[in-house]
Amino acid sequence: MHAQVGCLGSIYIVHVNEVLDTMHYHETHKIHRSSWLRAAVLGANDGIISTASLLIGVAAAGSGTPNLILVGAAALVAGAMSMAAGEYVSVSSQADIERADLATEKAALENHFEQEKDELALIYQGRGVSPELSKQVAEQLMEHDALGAHARDELGISAQVSAQPIQAAVSSATAFTLGAALPVIAVFLIAFFQLEAQLIPFLSISSLIFLASLGATAAYVGGAPIKTAVLRVTFWGALAMIITAGIGELFQVAF
Ligand SMILES: [Zn+2]
Repeated sequence: MHAQVGCLGSIYIVHVNEVLDTMHYHETHKIHRSSWLRAAVLGANDGIISTASLLIGVAAAGSGTPNLILVGAAALVAGAMSMAAGEYVSVSSQADIERADLATEKAALENHFEQEKDELALIYQGRGVSPELSKQVAEQLMEHDALGAHARDELGISAQVSAQPIQAAVSSATAFTLGAALPVIAVFLIAFFQLEAQLIPFLSISSLIFLASLGATAAYVGGAPIKTAVLRVTFWGALAMIITAGIGELFQVAF
């Protein structure tokens, strides 16, 4: 739905950039990085927050490190599978919708070519092009690639369905696994160095550090303000851990 759409768009951008290079005029944009970055960060973020919160909740209820490692491993596998399934279904249905829309558009172009030309011209008029020129633009665009022009300007998609459900599922699950592994490794290290007395502080502080580093890296790669990204992700992470710790405490008191 996100990571894969826009393949044609990037080929186009590369071509435009080559032309601009020869003109010594170039501005770099990071928006084409945003879709895969968003998916990867979301997956890893999910992995850290959900696994760390779960571990802290179970630890607050009084479980020791052997149980926590079991819980962490189960959380990692369950979360990764859930991410894969969710992403697969979501990207597949996005691809179905795109395919159906393109089929409709293709039929319209075959049966009502002139009306479609007017439609495209109207879209350009809506963007501020004069009626005269908009007709020329529509004419030339449709001579070049009618379906591509309508897909882009009318539907806002590229003319080839490029959504790849399997790839999206695998990359989301991988990102989640990498994120979820961090708090599990933290539990291993806490057990190894016999720091069980300070289990919850160590686990929550290390998880918040992982989250902050992830937020900072993502912001750096995406060219966004680093401080805002770090504050945002640590706030939500801390909130999740506080809530599950509270629930764990309640269970320990109640049972
Ligand atoms: Zn159309």
